[in-house]
Amino acid sequence: MRQVLALLLEQDAGPTRPCSSRWYNACMDTFDAIAETLRRAVNRERLLETAVQLVEIPSRTGEAGAVLDRMAGMLADEGLTVERHVAGHPSAPAVAAWLSSGRPGPTLQFNCHVDTVHLPFVPPAVQGKRLTGSGACDMKGGTACAIEAVRVLRQTGTLPAGRVLFTAHDLHEAPWGYGEQLDQLIRDGVVGEAVLIPEPLTDYLPTVGRGSATWKVTLSRPGLPIHEVMRPLDEPSVIAAGGVLIERLMAWNARLAERCDPQAGQESVFIGQIHSGEIFNQYPQQCWLEGTRRWLPGGKRDEVEREFRVLLDEVARQTGTTVTVEFHCIRDPFYLDLTHPLVTTFQECQRRTGGSELPLGPKPFVDDGNSFYGLGPIPAITHGPRAGGQHTIDEWADLDDMVRVAWLYALTAVRYCGRGAAESEAT
Ligand SMILES: [Zn+2]
Repeated sequence: MRQVLALLLEQDAGPTRPCSSRWYNACMDTFDAIAETLRRAVNRERLLETAVQLVEIPSRTGEAGAVLDRMAGMLADEGLTVERHVAGHPSAPAVAAWLSSGRPGPTLQFNCHVDTVHLPFVPPAVQGKRLTGSGACDMKGGTACAIEAVRVLRQTGTLPAGRVLFTAHDLHEAPWGYGEQLDQLIRDGVVGEAVLIPEPLTDYLPTVGRGSATWKVTLSRPGLPIHEVMRPLDEPSVIAAGGVLIERLMAWNARLAERCDPQAGQESVFIGQIHSGEIFNQYPQQCWLEGTRRWLPGGKRDEVEREFRVLLDEVARQTGTTVTVEFHCIRDPFYLDLTHPLVTTFQECQRRTGGSELPLGPKPFVDDGNSFYGLGPIPAITHGPRAGGQHTIDEWADLDDMVRVAWLYALTAVRYCGRGAAESEAT
């Protein structure tokens, strides 16, 4: 078995690697055998029950303590080493559960958020081949898949080397959270060398995405709102100042558009709303605007914010108004190095479990993968079960596809973590 395992570990991804056909066939036979063992070990009923148990506990962003407690209990019952990390959010300490092979090797992390957007709670239900309810899609369905994968790995004893780290946390969904609990976990070193994230993205492998921030700028003058005929002539018009700011932002947006990635799109500064005044003949005291700023990999969040503040200082000087800003980075940009072993092993396992490799594409939203890239960089793949209705009250996840994702995650862990053992045996 040891020899067979070594063969499996040393075999690289893909049939294009030069090797003898006998050696290659032996490797593939072993890979197929392990894949089959894992496939058979995935327990659909257990997976569904886990998902239902997660969905039935309401966990709006900021309030995910109870569901994290239940999850910690579930994982401890499985015999895993479970830690709780406050990570700046005492009412809902994050869960970190470790499954170790007992042999040296890399750590693959399955990372999940269990908070849901602030919408009315919908209890779990099974409708045909779908699980429905709050978070079924985003992302308790995927979280249950990751838990099932860990159970399968433990039960089959197939993890050849390294460790699997399962993490679950709160404070993901903006504007109620900005990923600050995960950021703290990463800064505290509660991370793997590579990450899988079972968010609802199924049909392609996201390789690049823009970072995003929201901003709200307020321009003010000192005096109170007053009838226009009584207005102090030495105080600036905040509406005119808002106009100056809009002009500056539009010109800046045109320059930013020159920074463009064929997959992710262009950088931008976007104005979503502007407000000032109450009635037609009042001289208002404030004008405020709100919008977003999106940027490509390579730019750091601190630099992006500083650049924005410099422009605002110039507008303040030019218009004589006081300008303040609330600038919230939602997530860093995202980039995936396609040569990383995580990607090659994931695609190989995807081919085995899904029939073909995933095509490449952009990441349409920001997710935790952006934080792993921004604070690492740690490679992270977003791939979860077929699901829909995220950020609505009509969420669903496909049960057949949840079974597939649990299998894929377990197989990827075997292949990815096994590479470390192959390297250490070779030296
Ligand atoms: Zn999500």
